[in-house]
Amino acid sequence: MEPFAGTAAGRLSVEDAGAEMKRPHSGARLNLPLYLKGETNLEILARSVLVALGKAPDEAERASCLAVVQEAANDPDNHPLDCECEGCA
Ligand SMILES: [Zn+2]
Repeated sequence: MEPFAGTAAGRLSVEDAGAEMKRPHSGARLNLPLYLKGETNLEILARSVLVALGKAPDEAERASCLAVVQEAANDPDNHPLDCECEGCA
């Protein structure tokens, strides 16, 4: 059971973050390949996920939200079809 689903309003599930990365034309979908190539950072990727989902984590929740976004970003299932990262190659 993943620990962040359905808790405080600012919390984020890996599933929600992953879905946002796969949603056509979403900011997260555009930012994910850049993040995987090291051309943008986790902070920016996370912001595009959180803004799209209308979540505004407070300071205490920020680190766990970043960890959730990072976990979703590391899952090849969430990557674009033409992804060339190590996990997909
Ligand atoms: Zn990949």
